[in-house]
Amino acid sequence: MSLRLRLTLWYSTVLAGVIFLFGVIVYTILSASLIGQIDLSLKAAAEDIIRASSVSQVLDIQIVNIPPDLDRFGGPNVYAQVWKTDGTLVNQSGSIGAYSDPFDAHGLAESYQSRRDAVVRGVHLRVFTLPIITSGGTVVGYVQTASPLRTVDVAKSILLIVLVGGGVGAVALAALIGWFSARRALAPLETITQTALQITRADDLSRRIPMAEPPQDDEVNRLRMAFNESLERLEKLFNAQRRFLADVSHELRTPLTAIRGNVDLMRRMGEADPTSLDAIQSEAERMSRLVGDLLLLAQAESGSLPLAHDLVELDTLLLEVCSEAQVLAAGVTVGIGEIDQAVVVGDRDRLKQVILNLVSNALKFTPEGGRVTMGLALAAGQWVRLTVTDTGTGIPPGELSHIFDRFYRVDKARSRTLGGAGLGLSIAKRIVHMHGGRIEASSEGILGRGATFSVWLPLSQARSPAETRKPVERKQERA
Ligand code: ADP
Repeated sequence: MSLRLRLTLWYSTVLAGVIFLFGVIVYTILSASLIGQIDLSLKAAAEDIIRASSVSQVLDIQIVNIPPDLDRFGGPNVYAQVWKTDGTLVNQSGSIGAYSDPFDAHGLAESYQSRRDAVVRGVHLRVFTLPIITSGGTVVGYVQTASPLRTVDVAKSILLIVLVGGGVGAVALAALIGWFSARRALAPLETITQTALQITRADDLSRRIPMAEPPQDDEVNRLRMAFNESLERLEKLFNAQRRFLADVSHELRTPLTAIRGNVDLMRRMGEADPTSLDAIQSEAERMSRLVGDLLLLAQAESGSLPLAHDLVELDTLLLEVCSEAQVLAAGVTVGIGEIDQAVVVGDRDRLKQVILNLVSNALKFTPEGGRVTMGLALAAGQWVRLTVTDTGTGIPPGELSHIFDRFYRVDKARSRTLGGAGLGLSIAKRIVHMHGGRIEASSEGILGRGATFSVWLPLSQARSPAETRKPVERKQERA
């Protein structure tokens, strides 16, 4: 069953229920009030007759004296009968004609007033019975007044027709309006479905669902927005994937071309040329570095990179990296500025890889005579900030937001000659994230003013590894 049909059925049923309930209430109240009016007038007529009557006692016999003309009590539509307790008719109004049975035989068997409906000669009557009681409390007879219910019955029938007819008409009209308004309301969903199908068929993620004009803040529009946002994200991911694949192929092809060129050269020369062999070796090394980096990145991104949870003394690690970097630095001074003691929880080797990567970048982009300074400072809120600052080329501010992207290099040609594939910083970013920290770069992009890379890491709650060796060991056992 379609949503449109379900909606229409649902509110038609609710409307029918409400109208039915309303109809029953109106019908009941109206009938009761009409009958109530008639009962009042019948009672008044019966009481008038009793008031105009008298009871006299001769010896043991009680005689009821009734006014002779009963037609003058009540209106023209009120008939009256007076009965003795033994079932003898004492008198009745002339308008009845030759009718000698009680209007309501049950009423004559009761010692209290009663009201009933009765059918007399095919006429629907309302009958009121009032016992005639002496001052001593004895029932000596009954006055029965009756009135035809024709007007009431006609009124009730008309009301019933109006209620049923009106109700059915109203429900049918509501269903019709509901059916068409549901179509209007659901039409945007159909557009969304069609667009989604087109996207699937054409494999075109650049399509978007057209937004409503003028913009509305309703459920359908929110669905459109959510759908378009998902599409945008999918498109970005898809493009990034495609770009990544193209970058990987390109990066792998460059060393392969170099290797093939050198092999060709040697074949033509007919001997193993040491320069060509060196080139082949360096290109093969570059390739295996690249493949290694790619594997690491893939593992880090899929969350399958194993990470130790040891207590790491960052200050010691920084000193270690500094002395290693000093060996590599050709003509660049590597030193340590401010250094605080800091212990973090994490993987020592991976953290060392991050710092080494930052320092080797700094060395790569800092000309001779420059300086690379490392620092470690405790920051507010249980954080530690590790910095690597250089006095090199710097990074143009517009490029800063991209340098952590995979394969991104500010100066492609230059970076490649320096041996970089543009994966170092994205790996560093991943590793830092996996440690619950964040990495940032700042630079004015001016030669000589260099760049500063900052890594924020959450401090371990323990101050030194020795202090908490036990809990950590327990943690590892649990892991
Ligand atoms: P690469 O392997 O090319 O160094 P990275 O991901 O480590 O790749 O760095 C990306 C790019 O960011 C580099 O190619 C370079 O353009 C820029 N970059 C990184 N560190 C520095 C720095 N200290 N000074 C200037 N540019 C830098």
